[in-house]
Amino acid sequence: MTRLVMKFGGTSSADPSRLEACAALIAERQKEGASIAVVVSAPAGMTDRLERDVGTADPDGQWVDEGDAVLAAGEQINAALLAMALRRLGLRARSYTGWQVGMLTDGAHGAAKIQSIETKALTQTIDGGTIAVVAGFQGLGPDGRITTLGRGGSDLSAVALAAALQAQACEIYTDVEGVYSADPRMVPTAKPIARLSYEELLEMASQGTKVMQSRSVELAMAKNVTLRILSSFEGTVPQGGTTIGTNAALERATVCAISYSRDETRIMVHRLPAGSEALTRVFAVLAEAGIQVDLIVQSPGNHVNESTLVFSLRRGDAQQALSLLTDPCHKLALDEVSLDPDMAKVSVIGIGLRSQTRMAHTMFETLCAHDIAIGAVATSETRISALIPAVDVEMAVRALHQAFGLDQART
Ligand code: ASP
Ligand code: MG
Repeated sequence: MTRLVMKFGGTSSADPSRLEACAALIAERQKEGASIAVVVSAPAGMTDRLERDVGTADPDGQWVDEGDAVLAAGEQINAALLAMALRRLGLRARSYTGWQVGMLTDGAHGAAKIQSIETKALTQTIDGGTIAVVAGFQGLGPDGRITTLGRGGSDLSAVALAAALQAQACEIYTDVEGVYSADPRMVPTAKPIARLSYEELLEMASQGTKVMQSRSVELAMAKNVTLRILSSFEGTVPQGGTTIGTNAALERATVCAISYSRDETRIMVHRLPAGSEALTRVFAVLAEAGIQVDLIVQSPGNHVNESTLVFSLRRGDAQQALSLLTDPCHKLALDEVSLDPDMAKVSVIGIGLRSQTRMAHTMFETLCAHDIAIGAVATSETRISALIPAVDVEMAVRALHQAFGLDQART
């Protein structure tokens, strides 16, 4: 029996007419013959509102169990409303809460981890032709209380359910046509990417592209669940979208997307004693304070035995990092540290980039041709990032999008 999990996000299910559009899509998919389990989010904005209500009722956050009972309500409402929309179309459908499908979690309220799902009854229901509409984002803790999985957690519910039901795919319906090759507001020629690997999607998420909750992508990768990101706003079953799976990227060119982040500050430490000892101490101090550092370069200074160290971090951490490095009471007490908050990071994302020197060359050549100064560089298997002045970010993203051939037809 082919099974399919269809998940609808908050904008896809924001009001009665959107829920009707979801029901129509589900009906079309069902005609194709699959057994269907649906996972819903709360309507857009509702969880934020509930979170504020919880903040008012429990300002110290001491009753997290009751807080979760409130937060989980939005999904429950949407599940039942969507089941009714399906029934209006003459289909058999019923809603389920997380605990009714045996979505068991640990007891970490607000960030619970799914431990198991009881699939026997659910499988019988859907294989018998009834559409199960499951409230996402919620489960049942060991003490019998409602738990929630963390913001964006209905993606996680959907992937976990798809794995448990051995579904042929988990379709994530949202308000965009898939994962784009760059931010379409910045690059008008950006297009949805047809196929991506899990690693690439995770890398894009870590570089600022928000599509799916990262934990859910990690789970999909671990359980080998094929994901499809699709728009629910096209009026019919969408044809395009982005498919994410194992080896999904093999059939296309190496680079798939250009990401950027404007939230970068550069710190330069001049006249740092050369050698690994001072360097080790700098990063030990930052690590102790929980400050994450991204791109790092060390180069020889103007004098023998001195070096210049450049690294980037998030803007919110910059002042603390500066005072830790320069604090006279601290053993580092560096006196020549400067900070530049107007930096951005641009990243080329793709598979197997480390072994593709040509890609790094194309990136630097392109930035150079546009007179964009490169402050620091980092590479991994799936990305090459460069720190650049914030004013140049739009130009850099557009130029790289073109240089890597992403402006051309859909791959
Ligand atoms: N409604 C929850 C949230 O807004 C879960 C989700 O939408 O995935 O975070
Ligand atoms: Mg979401």
